[in-house]
Amino acid sequence: MSITGHCLCGNVTYSADVEPIMVAICHCDHCQRQSGAPFSLNVAIDRSALKLEGDSLKTYETKGGDADNTRERIFCSNCGSPLVSILAEADDMAFIKAGTLDDTSTLAPELEVYTDNAHPWFHAADGEERGLFPAGLPT
Ligand SMILES: [Zn+2]
Ligand SMILES: [Zn+2]
Repeated sequence: MSITGHCLCGNVTYSADVEPIMVAICHCDHCQRQSGAPFSLNVAIDRSALKLEGDSLKTYETKGGDADNTRERIFCSNCGSPLVSILAEADDMAFIKAGTLDDTSTLAPELEVYTDNAHPWFHAADGEERGLFPAGLPT
C-alpha cells in the first residue's frame, strides 16, 4: 500500500510503498509527552522504504523513561509535529506517528504497549459504560 503523510505545517512530507508491519498504541511516558496526547498510535514499517523529506527535519534522542533503549524521535522543527521514531533495539523499522498520515481509515491497532503506564481512565473499567457521540457533544 502507499503510505503518505506530512507534518502540521507541511514542510516535512513522507511516503513509503509498503505494508505496515504492525499498528500499535504506545502508552509510554515519552510518547505521551512528545505527542501531548494520552498515547501515541504508531505504524511500523520497513525503515528502508521510508522517504522523509523536508529542511526542517530534526531528531531528538531520548533514553530512559519507560524504555531502556535509545529512541530517535524525528520531528519538524518548524511546527513541532512528531513524525517518526526509531528504536535502537529494532532500528530496521520506522514507527510513524499515525496522526500525521494522510489516510488513517484502514488502520486497525493490533496491540498496546507499555500499558502499565496507560492513564488509569484510558480503558473503561469493567462494567463502566461511556457515551459515544459521533458528532461532538450531546445536545
Ligand atoms: Zn512542520
Ligand atoms: Zn512510546
